[in-house]
Amino acid sequence: MRGKDIYISMEYRKKSVRSADLMGKKVLLRCDFNVPLDKKTGAITADTRITATAPTIRFMLDRGASVITCSHLGKPKGNADPSLSLTPVAARLSDVIGSPVVFGSDITGPETRAKAAALKPGQTMLLENLRFDPREETNDPVFAKELADLADIYVSDAFGTAHRAHASTAGIAQFLPAYAGLLLEKEISIMGKALNEPKHPFVAILGGAKVTDKIGVVSNLLEKADALIVGGGMAFPFIRALGGSIGDSIFEGDSIDYCRSMIFKAAALGKPFFLPVDAIAAARFAADSPFQICRSDKIPDGYMGLDIGPDTQSRYHDAIAGAKTIIWNGPMGVFEFPAFAGGTATVAEAVANATDSGAISIVGGGDSAAAVEQLGFSFRISHISTGGGAALEFLEGKELPGIACLLNK
Ligand code: AMP
Repeated sequence: MRGKDIYISMEYRKKSVRSADLMGKKVLLRCDFNVPLDKKTGAITADTRITATAPTIRFMLDRGASVITCSHLGKPKGNADPSLSLTPVAARLSDVIGSPVVFGSDITGPETRAKAAALKPGQTMLLENLRFDPREETNDPVFAKELADLADIYVSDAFGTAHRAHASTAGIAQFLPAYAGLLLEKEISIMGKALNEPKHPFVAILGGAKVTDKIGVVSNLLEKADALIVGGGMAFPFIRALGGSIGDSIFEGDSIDYCRSMIFKAAALGKPFFLPVDAIAAARFAADSPFQICRSDKIPDGYMGLDIGPDTQSRYHDAIAGAKTIIWNGPMGVFEFPAFAGGTATVAEAVANATDSGAISIVGGGDSAAAVEQLGFSFRISHISTGGGAALEFLEGKELPGIACLLNK
């Protein structure tokens, strides 16, 4: 494990935009402007991803740079899909930074090149959706060079796509000096420190639907953390691996051997490995389904566990209470249905209480972030990661191409 330790601690020692000479320079800033859009109106429904990168943009503008922002939005698969245009983002970005944003509608075409060349220090530009060009996702070096030719420096603030080796996230760093933006720097330093220099006790909490999405994460966190807490649908293959009956609960049969090996691994390391002892089991996967509370290893046929039960909730609450470092990825149940949100809410409250008492808490992307926000606890968590898939790969200890390509300090 030493190799991985060394690798991750190097990761957050990447060169920051703070150390770049920005005066009079053009900067290509890879952002994560993959914002949620209203399906009917196309309006932006949450602009956190835009406001989160604004400090990096302001930092560079204030130091005499001109900033060419770029991002993908959705999955247009190499076609110019007007419903996934970044034009609404340009308008919102302009509001957020308080100055006009020039739009480059042909990405690296002649119009964009002319507008980029004419940019003055203090001015901002946004390129059209990079994934309108099929060469973005294939990491085509010609496209990476075309992007690089627009600027003098490359800065990345796109943690959410750092696990992808695309032209704008990795390829471009062959052609320009590459730095971490303020948001990316914050993200990797908080997560890197929590993983590699945690204050103890370090408790990791994993949930969500499928264990197969989290195979590498369970293994790596077992080594790093002092205790592992498992809930959500991903707990059921573990319970089956121990010989329990799980009724009609969500279950991936091919994960049994893996789950068994993780239970052995926890025992060999002498680490507490918490699994649910009871469940709230529903007759149907529906918000209004009748339900019963039962032992998690005795769920009747015709019922499926949709949340951790009350006994488990209080055990998990207690296990989290004294933690000084907490990493949480994935809800404890189907929190989208209020009747099955209690386990996730209890864990969110325990994490928030521990944070109030001085713990560092990190909630990793996607559904866990949505759950914490929906339940009203986000302001009592130290850090909510912007990247779902990228956060998981980071927690696995994997090399993320969008971080590896940045200059070392
Ligand atoms: P993930 O993307 O793997 O983090 O999974 C998040 C999803 O898992 C959420 O939409 C939850 O509704 C779902 N989930 C959590 N617990 C369960 C469960 N016991 N059965 C089915 N789905 C679940």
